[in-house]
Amino acid sequence: MEILIFWIVLISTLAVLAYSRASLTMFTAAVTVVLAIATALHIVGTLSWIIFLIVALPLNIASVRQQYLTKPLLKLYRKIMPEMSTTEKEAIDAGTTWWEADLFRGNPDWHKLHNIPAPRLSTEEQAFLDGPVEELLAMVDDWHITHERADLTPEVYQYLKDHGFFAMIIKKQYGGLEFSAYAQSCVLQKLTSKSMVLSSIVGVPNSLGPGELLQHYGTDEQKAHYLPRLAKGIEVPCFALTSPEAGSDAGAIPDTGIICKGEWEGQEVIGMRLTWDKRYITLAPIATVLGLAFKLYDPEGLIGDNKDLGITCALIPVTTPGVKIGRRHFPLNVPFQNGPTQGKDIFVPLDYIIGGVSMAGQGWRMLVECLSVGRAITLPSNSTGGIKAVAMATGAYARIRRQFRLPIGKMEGVEEAMARVGGYAYMADASTTMSVGAIDLGEKPSVISAITKYHMTERMRQAITDAMDIHGGKGICMGPNNYLARGYQGAPVAITVEGANILTRNMIIYGQGAIRCHPYVLAELQAAQIDDERAAVTAFDKALFGHIGFAISNFFRTFWLSLTGGIFSNAPYNDATAKYYRQMNRFSASLALMSDVAMGTLGGDLKRRERISARLGDILSMLYLTSAILKRYNDEGRKVDDLPLVQWGCEDNMAKAQLAMDELFNNFPNRIVGVVLKRIVFPWGRTLRKASDITEHKVARIMQTPSDSRSRLGHYLYLKNEPLNQLGMMEQALKDILLAEPIFDKVSHAAKKRLPFYRLNEVADLGLELKVITEAEANQLRIAEKGRLFAINVDDFDSEYIAADKTLPQQGPGALAKDKKEHAA
Ligand SMILES: Cc1cc2nc3c(=O)[nH]c(=O)nc-3n(C[C@H](O)[C@H](O)[C@H](O)COP(=O)(O)OP(=O)(O)OC[C@H]3O[C@@H](n4cnc5c(N)ncnc54)[C@H](O)[C@@H]3O)c2cc1C
Repeated sequence: MEILIFWIVLISTLAVLAYSRASLTMFTAAVTVVLAIATALHIVGTLSWIIFLIVALPLNIASVRQQYLTKPLLKLYRKIMPEMSTTEKEAIDAGTTWWEADLFRGNPDWHKLHNIPAPRLSTEEQAFLDGPVEELLAMVDDWHITHERADLTPEVYQYLKDHGFFAMIIKKQYGGLEFSAYAQSCVLQKLTSKSMVLSSIVGVPNSLGPGELLQHYGTDEQKAHYLPRLAKGIEVPCFALTSPEAGSDAGAIPDTGIICKGEWEGQEVIGMRLTWDKRYITLAPIATVLGLAFKLYDPEGLIGDNKDLGITCALIPVTTPGVKIGRRHFPLNVPFQNGPTQGKDIFVPLDYIIGGVSMAGQGWRMLVECLSVGRAITLPSNSTGGIKAVAMATGAYARIRRQFRLPIGKMEGVEEAMARVGGYAYMADASTTMSVGAIDLGEKPSVISAITKYHMTERMRQAITDAMDIHGGKGICMGPNNYLARGYQGAPVAITVEGANILTRNMIIYGQGAIRCHPYVLAELQAAQIDDERAAVTAFDKALFGHIGFAISNFFRTFWLSLTGGIFSNAPYNDATAKYYRQMNRFSASLALMSDVAMGTLGGDLKRRERISARLGDILSMLYLTSAILKRYNDEGRKVDDLPLVQWGCEDNMAKAQLAMDELFNNFPNRIVGVVLKRIVFPWGRTLRKASDITEHKVARIMQTPSDSRSRLGHYLYLKNEPLNQLGMMEQALKDILLAEPIFDKVSHAAKKRLPFYRLNEVADLGLELKVITEAEANQLRIAEKGRLFAINVDDFDSEYIAADKTLPQQGPGALAKDKKEHAA
């Protein structure tokens, strides 16, 4: 019996120490104390001490441990260490880790999360949003842009250039706006709420491209020449990386630069002969300067010994003889400027390389470093603006549109789809704000930018599909009154660019996250590469034993948190949100354990097991998105009216994380490991549920009822009620309908029948006739009817207007009848 108690005490002590991540010294001290007490009570004897000393001494004496344990393990590790290409190494080295690393490491500190300052707009940035952005949006007619002209108008281009829209990232000393990432995000969201083409054209020069590359890596001369010209819009940039042969595998571009001597401005100089064939390049058809990525070779050794320098970026003015440019692709009826460019054997001087000769071969590093930032801004912001706009419009439409004598938004089936749109709108704003906030704090968050890019664009695709369903035929018939169709058509564009989503999910999020966020894996890899054997062993020893302690701790944390559902774990608030913090404590520990098990059992093979990697990435992503929701709720003052949106998002994410884990266990390559992991992580099965019907009902109600919560859902959108702004007109129509409803009820009551809620002008006349409403109330009914008709009506056109080729004969009424004369009669 005593011996049983001894073992229980010993194991519990070890478990508690492991749970709280105690050091090896603490472990040793604790076991010594337990053994001493047990010896005093005559429960254990000398043998126990001998076994303890055999284990503890080598572990605690560094020189012994390193000689007999670490050295052989390092040798083995070097044999099985996964190989990494240079491009992979550069991608891993680029950027920083931030809050996602805390989530990855199994023990997030919630006070740290809530102490991260929320991003704020400066007075100047706010003034820009209220001034030039609104003025610009008032000029824009999206139907004209997307259908009639397939481009922005010259006036809009000029306005963009004159007001620095292309220079939000360029520093003030060069004439740019030097806006924070948060301000850029707000501007892009607002632009998207009226025109995707506009936000795409503004987004690109402010994202990865010549402006960003020059500011980071350009020579002083390049900066002095180009940046003021880019800021003023004298130069229009594009960035050409993708080629027909290399899309996702951009490191494999076949475009080349051969260093050679040639004639430049009448003199013989060392330069490069460039040959490229690029496609899909945004702004290329109207660009004045091409940022070009190519592989640079120096076969004659003109600039050094290295013959294969690698990917290099240069700036090529499009006026350079031989540059082919100007034709356009037609991206899914969202016709922003995008097209191919080619050049063959075009000789340019070496100082066209961004950063000069010293940056030859550094192109990939430059790109991935800039992408760690850019990928978190443009596409997530455009997607977030899109989701929020869709949520506002759908809420209004679902309240205005009636079928079966009820607003469709009150029907349970519609509520389900609405809740997704509203829930995603809240979450998208939360995560984009948090991610751009990280950039403003000086981070280059490569893992977060991949998470945000992937999930915001996917949520946008889902939200717009739901919105289309809710709008029925209204969403399908194209025309100036359709505020959804272009978003629906264009959703796959955002999914594909800056790293197509399947690849982002399967390779980038976890592929980079695992190595960058893990506290010891990168250190182990780096230690194994150290040439000096002593230094290598010392570094490897530190990383390896840290790793072992970390893994043991994660095992005990997972075991305990899974067994208890995390209910005893820490949450910073004891309210309706507490359970989400606790669920995340649990899943964060599980992720840390699963990561070590996956890396330990699959080793370098994990890279090729994309679906394992994708699911681990999903768990990390869900933790990140959930923490962003909780942070937003906190930063906005914990407004209880917003709780349904918070609950919906947290529950949706946690259920998705749970599903990802389950699928991971069911598909784990080593079946025994999969089954054991499943037993540890899900001792009671899959216990978490998606949001309830009641929560979904509450979210749908928020979307349909003007309130502070609803306004927060749509902040930084362009909601002005003016012609050509369908979103603003829908907002007004919603308000007018809600004002008309009690008046309508009064008339119905007086008429002693349930009138249908249409032809409200006739209802107004009836009300006046029955003398139950005032002239002002009658007027409100007439205004509401106008808004109602605007909301539900769709456009129709003459056949000739729709056809692109106006010269072809069209089928008019009766044109297909066999006997046209008979038909006419
Ligand atoms: C409208 C538009 C604008 C663009 N703008 C620019 C620009 O300005 N500059 C520029 O340089 N490029 C630009 N691009 C190119 C864009 O970045 C590429 O389209 C993208 O990288 C994907 O390449 P791809 O289209 O050739 O698809 P592919 O590489 O052929 O990929 C096809 C599919 O396979 C998946 N896939 C590929 N490899 C893997 C893998 N290892 N694991 C899992 N899945 C994988 C991808 O995710 C994708 O779903 C633009 C593209 C479009 C459509």
